[in-house]
Amino acid sequence: MSAPIYLDCNATTRPAPQVVAEMLDALQLAWANPSSTHGPGQVARRLLADARARVAAFLGCHGAELVFTSGATEANHSAVLGALAAARVGRAPGRRRWVLSAVEHPGLLALAQRLAEEGLPVDRMGVDAQGRLDLAQAEALIGDDVALVSLMGANNETGVRMPLHEVATLAHARGALLHVDATQLAGKTPVDFDASGADLMTVSAHKLGGPKGIGALLVRQGLVLPPLLSGRQERHRRGGTENIPGIAGFAAACDLAAGTLGEDIARVQALRERLEAGLRTIDAVHLYGSQAERLPNTSCLRFGTLDAEQVLSRLERAGIVASSGAACSAGGTQPSHVLLAMGESALQARAGIRFSLGRETTPAEIDATLAAVQRVIVPLLDPQPLAA
Ligand code: PMP
Repeated sequence: MSAPIYLDCNATTRPAPQVVAEMLDALQLAWANPSSTHGPGQVARRLLADARARVAAFLGCHGAELVFTSGATEANHSAVLGALAAARVGRAPGRRRWVLSAVEHPGLLALAQRLAEEGLPVDRMGVDAQGRLDLAQAEALIGDDVALVSLMGANNETGVRMPLHEVATLAHARGALLHVDATQLAGKTPVDFDASGADLMTVSAHKLGGPKGIGALLVRQGLVLPPLLSGRQERHRRGGTENIPGIAGFAAACDLAAGTLGEDIARVQALRERLEAGLRTIDAVHLYGSQAERLPNTSCLRFGTLDAEQVLSRLERAGIVASSGAACSAGGTQPSHVLLAMGESALQARAGIRFSLGRETTPAEIDATLAAVQRVIVPLLDPQPLAA
């Protein structure tokens, strides 16, 4: 059986051969502990320093601002728990509140729910029907008691981008820190931590062609947070022997993405437009966020109110893989929290599916996807009357 057409790049991406090669080299040649002072340890240490510089260059931060983590979920937890603890233990004891958007990644929302149950004041900023942040509500919620504001750079389900600069200004005017989950930005659009206004930024290698289990938290210079994992590595900011092969793969992925990002954006966006132009010819298709500023690769839509699971399984049998909302909640019949926040009904929010294109997507794959939609989905929408 031939490989399916993969349109689920917001869930994860395939590591390029160069990424795999650098990881293999790291496993074979730089296997020693980078904290060891002997020769083999120094080989690993040099690899770590070199990789840090490459990842930092890609993300527009200083090497000293970059803390390697096991991925975005850990970086998010580290940012939030660290920032809240820093406010509690020193910076400003009266600042306890955490404000985040209602459409954050499920891992961050689960942390918010847990902390709220433990008594932390937590507020969620809403979005409009296009998935854009409600800035007036954000302004009302970000008061002087806020320690931290968390806002994703772009939503993983809809691709809708968030107003980072505006929210940075609001947060800083009130003395709060801004944490940006840039997991879906990195690799799809340029990321410049220095210019972003964020104090803390989360990224994950596997969304940009790197391996899983490695990511980073960027911490603005001068900001000191208690670590989530204590230990001497990463300047005492993240304990645990460094994942050298993962870090090598992360750096290789950043180099590759940096080399082609400009062309990739234009090409992927043109393919997304080709896909959406074809989908718009189907009356029952409702595209989400089409009026909003979006990532170039993401298309979120529903076919009437056909259940996403049914649509996805039919598409997969036709050789196309996509996703419903966050992959992490796929498999369940839970409506998408993002679409609910945009004002959709539970029925509509269970119908949302996402095509997310990548660097490797071809025009032929888009045409094959549109043909498959006509073949296996459209008949469900508009059943032909049986011949007499
Ligand atoms: N944040 C966002 C916006 C994401 O899309 C994801 C991946 N689904 C994560 C966090 C979690 O990333 P990781 O797999 O690296 O923990």
